[in-house]
Amino acid sequence: MRRVTVPFFVSHAGCPHRCVFCDQRAISGSAGSLPDADEIVRTVSAYRETAGNRPVEVAFFGGSFTSLPRSIQESLLNPLAPLMAAGEVESVRVSARPDALSADDALFLRGCGVQMVEIGVQSMDDGILRRAGRGHFASDVEGAFRALRSAGLGAAAQLMPGLPGDTLAVTRKSLRRVMVLEPAFLRIYPTVVISGTPLAALSRSGEYAPLSLDEGVAWGKVLLLEALRAGVPVIRMGLQETDVLASSVEAGPYHPAFRQLVEGELFHDLLRELLPVGSGAATVRCSSADLSSVIGQRRCNIVRLARERGAELTVIADAGIPRWRLHVESAAGSHSVSVLADLHYEQENDD
Ligand code: SF4
Repeated sequence: MRRVTVPFFVSHAGCPHRCVFCDQRAISGSAGSLPDADEIVRTVSAYRETAGNRPVEVAFFGGSFTSLPRSIQESLLNPLAPLMAAGEVESVRVSARPDALSADDALFLRGCGVQMVEIGVQSMDDGILRRAGRGHFASDVEGAFRALRSAGLGAAAQLMPGLPGDTLAVTRKSLRRVMVLEPAFLRIYPTVVISGTPLAALSRSGEYAPLSLDEGVAWGKVLLLEALRAGVPVIRMGLQETDVLASSVEAGPYHPAFRQLVEGELFHDLLRELLPVGSGAATVRCSSADLSSVIGQRRCNIVRLARERGAELTVIADAGIPRWRLHVESAAGSHSVSVLADLHYEQENDD
């Protein structure tokens, strides 16, 4: 059963650093003031009322939770203890910097009822971390995973492809190093340039060339495919749309439906491989969860495959077909293919 997440944004609070890309207010849409105990309880109750039987999870997003003074961490987590005891809140999740997750931090979080920590990894390349002003090393990520595991906590990772100095090959190495750590899930946020950040100055001066949307999608499809094949869920790709963010992005691969663009590319590429030139009428059946990605935004896959392969596609949702699989019937025959098993990119073999 899908969880209901009650989000609280702690924004930049407590973070002693200034990463070149960071404007937490724009990214989270929150002004950054911390909620008090009453607000936490009221907000959870409001979500609880509409959650029905679904489990409720409280998540503190943004910033670096464990960089806050312990007294503030307690003021945010302690109001949740009676709600967890009463079964009104099932789980609690926080985000933190890798170098702010010692064994002691992890034990403290567990003692306060936290079950999952999302680690802001961004890259596993020390040169890229340095240029991004992260103030930590890739080895800190490995140490954070160890500390969380030893404390019995779940650990997930956030990655940010496209930082200064990054390439697709380097970012894939980062992904692989993170997957070795067996994260519970991943979030992939391609780097976007937000007004007022040091990255915006670098971009304007020409010292940093952000990915275009097409490049971001092209990187994203390789990363998503690799994670899916490894069985690691990617629960988000691209920043969540907020009014503040939409007006703050200066450049980079920002799109409110970034993930759908990426998934659409995977299906386009699979069909392009499968359908011969001049293939004519073809019926494609897929999971209803994949239907809009197979068709593509504004029917772009239908249009492109008509141009590239002469295909006249009819796409139908079929409850008997699992996610990522397509059944294709055309004059060339009947085929059952899967993004996970049958789609291959040249870059996948770059090392
Ligand atoms: S660690 Fe997080 S909150 Fe701190 S500057 Fe970097 S991105 Fe912003």
